[in-house]
Amino acid sequence: MRILFLGAPGAGKGTQCKRLAAKLNLPHLSSGDLLREAVKQGTPAGVAAKGFMDKGQLVTDAILIDMFRERLSGPSCANGFILDGFPRNIAQAKALDLLLEELKAQLNCVINLEVDDSLLSDRITGRRTCGNKGCAQVFHVKFAPPKKEGICDDCGAELTQRSDDKEDLVAARLKTYREQTEPLIEYYGGKGNLQTVGGEGDPDEIFEAIMTTLNTNCLIKK
Ligand code: AMP
Repeated sequence: MRILFLGAPGAGKGTQCKRLAAKLNLPHLSSGDLLREAVKQGTPAGVAAKGFMDKGQLVTDAILIDMFRERLSGPSCANGFILDGFPRNIAQAKALDLLLEELKAQLNCVINLEVDDSLLSDRITGRRTCGNKGCAQVFHVKFAPPKKEGICDDCGAELTQRSDDKEDLVAARLKTYREQTEPLIEYYGGKGNLQTVGGEGDPDEIFEAIMTTLNTNCLIKK
């Protein structure tokens, strides 16, 4: 099963993809997580990406395309994958088409998580992530607070805020999304495998809606 998630920053892609990956036993490939890890490790890709990420801009296509070519061709993706954050513009989507053609594979489903603009900013600035990489549970100061402020419910590690989730960068990230990523809705709509799921409200109910969509419209087998 090969699934791609679309949606604005703050739409809840990361949260839902993590759950889906556990449920379907598929790798969750988050471009943002891969880039943040590359920055942390100081790899050449990370060094090149950091300046763009700090400004809320898209990182150079070639970096992402190489990164995903390597992952998608590897054995861990042989049975499928869940893509989150890649592609982020039409050029990347076309590169993914080519890559899938080479791998003789196709996307079974593209899910667009739809959330009203008015909610996105609050969702992003209140997001807190567990600093323990093995856990990486996501909370929200208002909508999904941890039992103890600043501490992960699951593993007890400290929660952190992503540097690009701070208020001053949110507008730039949403602008980048509108200009470069939103056109992908039309791109995949034209290919006939796009499904829209409402991303507002209770995360459990959103997950149920995603599973129903996959079962009814994308015929998942596991
Ligand atoms: P995210 O965690 O998906 O919100 O991504 C965080 C940042 O990583 C974005 O603001 C971009 O700077 C960069 N990024 C993530 N995915 C991509 C992509 N597919 N293409 C270019 N830049 C990306």
